[in-house]
Amino acid sequence: MILRLNLRFSYAKMSDMGTSKSKKIRWKKVIIIGGGASGITAAISAARMGAEVLLIDHMDRIGKKILSTGNGKCNYTNRTQGVRFYRGEDPAFVLPVFRQFGFAETIRFFHELGIFPKERDGYFYPASGQASSVLDVLMMELRRLNVDVRTGCEILSVRKKTHTFEIQTRQGTFVSDSCIFACGGMAFPKSGSDGSAFPHIEAFGHTFTSLVPALVQMKAKQSFFKSIAGIRADSLVQLYINDQMVCQDRGELQLTKEGISGIPAFQVSRYAAKALANKQTAAVRLDFMPDLSVRELKRELEERFYRGDGKTAQEALIGMISKNLIPVFLKQSGILLHHPADQVSKKSLAALTGTLKQTTADIVDVEGFDRAQACAGGVHTSELSAHTLESRLICGLYFAGEVIDIDGMCGGYNLQWAWSSGYVAGMHAAGLPTETTESANDASDHTALIRKQKG
Ligand SMILES: Cc1cc2nc3c(=O)[nH]c(=O)nc-3n(C[C@H](O)[C@H](O)[C@H](O)COP(=O)(O)OP(=O)(O)OC[C@H]3O[C@@H](n4cnc5c(N)ncnc54)[C@H](O)[C@@H]3O)c2cc1C
Repeated sequence: MILRLNLRFSYAKMSDMGTSKSKKIRWKKVIIIGGGASGITAAISAARMGAEVLLIDHMDRIGKKILSTGNGKCNYTNRTQGVRFYRGEDPAFVLPVFRQFGFAETIRFFHELGIFPKERDGYFYPASGQASSVLDVLMMELRRLNVDVRTGCEILSVRKKTHTFEIQTRQGTFVSDSCIFACGGMAFPKSGSDGSAFPHIEAFGHTFTSLVPALVQMKAKQSFFKSIAGIRADSLVQLYINDQMVCQDRGELQLTKEGISGIPAFQVSRYAAKALANKQTAAVRLDFMPDLSVRELKRELEERFYRGDGKTAQEALIGMISKNLIPVFLKQSGILLHHPADQVSKKSLAALTGTLKQTTADIVDVEGFDRAQACAGGVHTSELSAHTLESRLICGLYFAGEVIDIDGMCGGYNLQWAWSSGYVAGMHAAGLPTETTESANDASDHTALIRKQKG
């Protein structure tokens, strides 16, 4: 509500100022590098604040990654929010941003643009079921606000002059009052986020935390994964770094030829990737019976195996465990498939309990950026204002989205961070227009969207 009032106030104030005959109003000029989720939102908020906005992307179109999100359905936010869903060296960095533009503002923003929300277990999607409709409404708003969008535009240099930024590109040189880097991280580079803008950021003195793939499959050393590839099972995944449990997640685990995938594996993968990059050891403990304690499971197995109903070991487990997994678990526990169930020793059943509750696998690698849904690591948050997302090193330079050292969990959190940080950075980068005492006749000089010096 506070945000809405502030924005209305800004609109009113700006239009009043625009009618002044004695004073010349110079709207802020904002250039945004990167037309992904955060860059587009930044462009919309800056333009709504009255700024003249230029959005630059080196791809042939903007918003490519949005189209791939949520398996083409775009899980654009989640009802359950909190700092625990965000990762980075300082996850609490997200809080001042969300206080200005959080979950409620996101739902309202998209609803006003045309996205009717559809909620499933707290996950939000457009009711159309199409990620393309999210991009469509964003593009319509960019057009309505006359945002200048330049695609296929390669950046050559970004320089700060005394009060302005000069951005040299293959399409010419552009000048602005503020500049926002919204160029994403390194994940899914075919959508444009390939790290090519990072040298321009580093040229300003900014530094990056280590960059690793996040929300990605993990590769395990153990060979038994080959025999169970393709199987899905409700499991608890606990990640151990240097033998210390650091995080866990439960959900539908997918066993792959090389290791583990699926949401619970994705959720812990960024910690495994960081650990491996730091030459630490990473291992997962898989609990395939997370609803039963070790004691309960042992009792259940003894009941099944010692019933005296003539079943084999394999048959005794049917109905409890996926049929495809039974041979693997029995083999791991040293039990023959067709052995009479009531002749399996208590020691072997204890081994089976251990296999079901605590299968351990050493993580030797994670898949690369090309298969990752997010990038963990980015510009150090200590170098940015958490309230405005402005650089603490360079006045007028802002950051938004995944290029910042914040990554979210699976479930709409990465897009939430992109929309929120984009909106907030755009709003502050646009700021209030400046008044000059120059004659009103010169005002037309400033109506051009962005002064194009060359090209
Ligand atoms: C397959 C997949 C599915 C996903 N699904 C979901 C989901 O359902 N929900 C969710 O919350 N998150 C999801 N994510 C994550 C989410 O899409 C991203 O976190 C989010 O889009 C990041 O937005 P961004 O604006 O920071 O960066 P990006 O979307 O990566 O955009 C960066 C933009 O900058 C441009 N750029 C980069 N370098 C330059 C340069 N040098 N010059 C000019 N332009 C440049 C790029 O071309 C790109 O357009 C998914 C990601 C992937 C890969």
